[in-house]
Amino acid sequence: MDGTVVVTGGSRGIGAAVVRALAARGTPVCFSYATHREAAEAVVAQAEELGTTAVAVRADVAEEADVRRLFAAADRLGPLAGLVNNAGQVAAQSPVVDLEPARIRRLLDVNVLGAFLCAQEAVRRLVPAGGGTVVNVSSRAAVLGGAGEYVDYAASKAAVDALTVGLAREVGPAGVRVVGVRPGLIRTDIHAGAGEPGRVERLAPTVPLGRGGEADEVAEAVVWLLSEAASYVTGTTLDVSGGR
Ligand code: NAP
Repeated sequence: MDGTVVVTGGSRGIGAAVVRALAARGTPVCFSYATHREAAEAVVAQAEELGTTAVAVRADVAEEADVRRLFAAADRLGPLAGLVNNAGQVAAQSPVVDLEPARIRRLLDVNVLGAFLCAQEAVRRLVPAGGGTVVNVSSRAAVLGGAGEYVDYAASKAAVDALTVGLAREVGPAGVRVVGVRPGLIRTDIHAGAGEPGRVERLAPTVPLGRGGEADEVAEAVVWLLSEAASYVTGTTLDVSGGR
């Protein structure tokens, strides 16, 4: 890949795995994190050990000024080649009827508005340059619905899927691809954040492949979508879910 890739939420989980996978291929990476500075610094060190430049920027993707600062930092590394819109949150498991408006609002701010703000900054650079790729990290929840757990999160990821389709049609003529991945049950900290650290193990028997997935397995799909090997793939979202 020629140029820098911005990864949102690169300090932990799937985002960190994407940063490492890009670093292993020599791609400079500028990534954001929300609060876990030490985790972000560890990922920078891992990327540098793999032989590339990595910069971590504390930036809340739901804040326009933060997003502008993130992309300004990426600009200092050179021309942009791509964006991985990965930062995302869930909240405590709850039926729809009990969801507090403030919680839904914050979730949509991070998962939807954040993805839009970052995509805007990316296309402002990629369209004039005549190429590049945006990869949106969605979720199988967008299709399954998240009943009894987090329908607000599922709805936010369905919005991300629509962003992938619509933006791909807008910027395709400029040579920019917009694609997505829908991870299934992946072993990261996000499940503890929703109040059930053992969620992947509980649901693993429902996965046709019989197990939860690893962040590295999602990262490999993301790196392929970013690469020239996926040059005719746009406006679509790839399930990385073991068949679930
Ligand atoms: P994770 O382990 O909880 O990591 C989340 C990452 O996003 C962290 O780097 C976190 O930064 C960052 N982040 C959170 N809120 C942010 C904000 N407002 N602004 C900037 N960065 C923010 O989660 P994960 O499991 O890797 O999830 C990554 C993506 O995959 C999310 O979009 C998630 O919805 C999606 N996904 C995950 C699964 C799964 O099973 N794990 C399944 C489907 C989809 P800090 O480290 O500073 O907190």
